[in-house]
Amino acid sequence: MALIIQKYGGTSVGTPERIKNVARRVASWQARGHRVVVVVSAMSGETNRLIALAKEVQAQPDPRELDVIAATGEQVTIGLLSMALMDIGVKARSYTGGQVKVLTDSAFTKARIVSIDEGNIRRDLETGHVVVVAGFQGVDEAGRITTLGRGGSDTSAVAIAAALKADECQIYTDVDGVYTTDPRIVPEARRLETVTFEEMLEMASLGSKVLQIRSVEFAGKYKVKLRVLSSLEELGQEGPGTLITFEEDIKMMEQPIISGIAFNRDEAKLTVLGVPDRPGIAYQILGPVAEANIDVDMIIQNVGHDGSTDFSFTVPRGEYAKATALLDQVKGHIGARQIAGDNRIAKVSVVGVGMRSHVGIASKMFRTLAEEGINIQMISTSEIKISVVIDEKYLELAVRVLHKAFELDQVPA
Ligand code: ADP
Ligand code: ASP
Ligand code: MG
Repeated sequence: MALIIQKYGGTSVGTPERIKNVARRVASWQARGHRVVVVVSAMSGETNRLIALAKEVQAQPDPRELDVIAATGEQVTIGLLSMALMDIGVKARSYTGGQVKVLTDSAFTKARIVSIDEGNIRRDLETGHVVVVAGFQGVDEAGRITTLGRGGSDTSAVAIAAALKADECQIYTDVDGVYTTDPRIVPEARRLETVTFEEMLEMASLGSKVLQIRSVEFAGKYKVKLRVLSSLEELGQEGPGTLITFEEDIKMMEQPIISGIAFNRDEAKLTVLGVPDRPGIAYQILGPVAEANIDVDMIIQNVGHDGSTDFSFTVPRGEYAKATALLDQVKGHIGARQIAGDNRIAKVSVVGVGMRSHVGIASKMFRTLAEEGINIQMISTSEIKISVVIDEKYLELAVRVLHKAFELDQVPA
């Protein structure tokens, strides 16, 4: 008998019929003798609807109140799923994040989980209940409702799995595993049997939204066995999904050099032109940006000419206007000639632990893009990934040609 945490995303609970299907799947696991905790998202589209509603009333919604509103989406799903379970004879009990309680810091809209009190969940499991927990939400020390950032239900599930020392955390979604790239963009993308934590972390942070990055961090840190599966397959006909593993565990097998291609449209580039090329300039530009809590991703400083240089960096697209306004303010002070920006860029990355032991991956990537006439604006690398910034209009083409060039559509020999 195992203790299983199952998380069902928005599409998986998108209609009353799908919620009933989830209930049947959960019941089948319980019937096989397992104890099950279910973590759910809001029904698909609901979080977007709630955020848009808030913005209709307040253009820049107050973060605390926005969380009060956004958290209601998941609260609806836990009630509905618990009822669906009861309806087929399964004892079920729902919990909001606060009822569990999932304690977080007070960073509204992007809170981090501090601790989870598993007492209530354990008691209900012991009495044969399925426990249904609202993902994406928690409460801070003062009892104020917080949310964990978009896609945060994944993190709720993994954190609960870690707290309960569960045997497995299953992320049920609308694809049957982690693919070589988003199958919505490349139909030839293949499901991966396994992917390492390190690769999954890179893929998640580089834009593969199949798992929220923090959920992968958490699972790696607390050694949670994490699997991505489809909720849309017939009961009893489910495939194995994708298991996220430690690199040591698959050392015996032949590892492909590249595991996947990630991409992200959610970026914008800012360039400060003609700044004096002297110590401290990067700090003077990026200091105010960091103080405003804007995440900076890629950074490049060009070689200086005649005592001045250009400095470019990328920020999340939603922060573009704010970052531009900030730079306009400091422009005079730092002695810059001009601020330029582009919010129609995208980032494409190839990821794979095999890069550590193989050369020529970057040149193959650059050649493939050059052959399509795609200009590379920025480059950044780590041990297991290479990322480039390109014009957004070439994004899908770039992903497709790279997927083919690295033979990701073919089953490794
Ligand atoms: P959920 O609502 O279940 O959390 P998400 O929409 O957050 O689902 O994540 C699943 C989606 O992630 C898929 O429908 C797919 O389009 C997208 N996706 C992006 N990259 C990948 C990838 N490498 N493998 C699988 N799915 C991916
Ligand atoms: N409902 C939230 C969102 O749409 C959390 C989640 O689905 O994981 O971002
Ligand atoms: Mg998700």
